[in-house]
Amino acid sequence: MLRPMLDDLRRQVALGCRILALGDQGDFVWGHVSARDPDGRGVWMKASTFGFEEIGPEQVILVSWDGEVLGQVLGAGLRRHAEYPIHTELMRARPDVAAVVHTHAPWAVAFAATGRPLRPVSHEATLFVPPDVARFTRTGDLILTAELGAALADAVGDRNAAFMLHHGIVTCGPDVVTAVMAAVLLERACRTNIRTVAGGGATTWSSDEEALAKRGHCYPPALLEQAWDYLERRLGRVGG
Ligand SMILES: [Zn+2]
Repeated sequence: MLRPMLDDLRRQVALGCRILALGDQGDFVWGHVSARDPDGRGVWMKASTFGFEEIGPEQVILVSWDGEVLGQVLGAGLRRHAEYPIHTELMRARPDVAAVVHTHAPWAVAFAATGRPLRPVSHEATLFVPPDVARFTRTGDLILTAELGAALADAVGDRNAAFMLHHGIVTCGPDVVTAVMAAVLLERACRTNIRTVAGGGATTWSSDEEALAKRGHCYPPALLEQAWDYLERRLGRVGG
């Protein structure tokens, strides 16, 4: 893979934040997007105290593997999120992961609490199912330590997402586009599933075989990028 330029990486993380805001995944100033530092120093991550829609490249800071904010050339005084171990520990455990998203996605939090398996009743869930979405159940509290971050990474395993019960979601991928689009699609899949439950429960959904075929047809990297580009244009139209 080509080594991403730092400016591009920070711009992508910022754009990812604003795309998540557009999808109503912001929770005031909480939730974050990160990308692995190409030089191995840690992660480039949204700074704390800002909402998703307020983030530009200058609010994306370098956080070391141990949570230290490194070399703030711009925006001195920016602070890191307390839950940085979600990002550092998942990337430590998964060399294939170069981007992580954590949000308090409202439909996903509500759906995960039903205890039901996510059903591929529309396209979106096929990016995750089968098998059913991974669930982190050890705590619904904040992930404030490396030990809890490692436990969360364990729950994610080799998957692209997990529900964090009573808390939110985590998604990951080899790049920012993949990780952010996974968060967008997981939230939409949960919204559709909640509507299905509200309508009396699904009586039909894609078989595993159909779901896996759809995963390849609907969400290969090139199509995820098309959706990302569309969302970027939409942000431009709403002045985001
Ligand atoms: Zn959180």
